[in-house]
Amino acid sequence: METNDKYYIGIDLGGTSIKIGLCDAQGQLLAVFEGPTEAEKRAEGVLQNIELYVRELVAREGCNWEQIAGIGAGIPGFLDFEQGLVKASPNLGWKDVPVRQILEDRMGKPVKIDNDANVAALGEVWSGAAAGIPNAVCYTLGTGVGGGIIVKNNLCQGFNGMGGEIGHLKVVADNEAILCGCGKKGCLETVSSATGIIYMAKEAVIRGEQTMLAHHREITAKDVLDAAKAGDPAALHIVDRAADYLGRSMALLSVVVNPQRFVVGGGVAKAGSFLLDRIDRYFREYALGNGSENVDIVPAILGNNAGVVGAAGLHCFG
Ligand SMILES: [Zn+2]
Repeated sequence: METNDKYYIGIDLGGTSIKIGLCDAQGQLLAVFEGPTEAEKRAEGVLQNIELYVRELVAREGCNWEQIAGIGAGIPGFLDFEQGLVKASPNLGWKDVPVRQILEDRMGKPVKIDNDANVAALGEVWSGAAAGIPNAVCYTLGTGVGGGIIVKNNLCQGFNGMGGEIGHLKVVADNEAILCGCGKKGCLETVSSATGIIYMAKEAVIRGEQTMLAHHREITAKDVLDAAKAGDPAALHIVDRAADYLGRSMALLSVVVNPQRFVVGGGVAKAGSFLLDRIDRYFREYALGNGSENVDIVPAILGNNAGVVGAAGLHCFG
């Protein structure tokens, strides 16, 4: 470690584990440390764990504490970015926790927080699949559909922090819409997340459709994607539907923020070009010509590290 260089710490706070990343000023991830969250210790205990892990990592990597220029944290839930406050995090069981203040007091460094989906997007734009692309939208297709919108290298958080909640774009027509975890109907997340894909597969089996998925005791999203790749018509229909709505959502976003690149990550995206090619086709079908010209859809590359990289990036990117 050069003694004059500045480094940034990114924290990815999850319900079961906390990941800490050490990044240089160019967004290169140099080292990570992972430890248990111990959510049962409540906010005070969890934030104490964070400090412990951060100091451990910095010491282990031979960094001087003075070289740490800033600390960022990605936290699941509803946040007040300006105040550095976690208003509510169902995953952690937190309500009105002044995270920034507590961490700044503990560590004596500037702290910024943002939600986990936003920081993952920022990570991909800083040094991942959209590096050097100032206007990009990132999707994370996991249990839900997370998202982050970057305009001119800045995260679009919006007035209330709801900017980038693309999983809750209402894209499904009323007569086909089902209830989303958010309490509304027809959200993108209900069809294009792992949960949505599994739901559609179970429905197909219940309807008695001829599908190899009927032989699975517990269907996973990967089972559905694998069955589709093997040519199973019911599975193909489900994947096609998930891709259709993703393409539709991208067409909507293209007339709002006109990104140059869409980055797609998360477990479902592991299906690779089989899924991305379909999304691309629908996107071009629905999008306004100029909104899709020279726009591409690419897989995320940082994987599970996107969160720590983006959290570190809250200080020195944009
Ligand atoms: Zn929703």
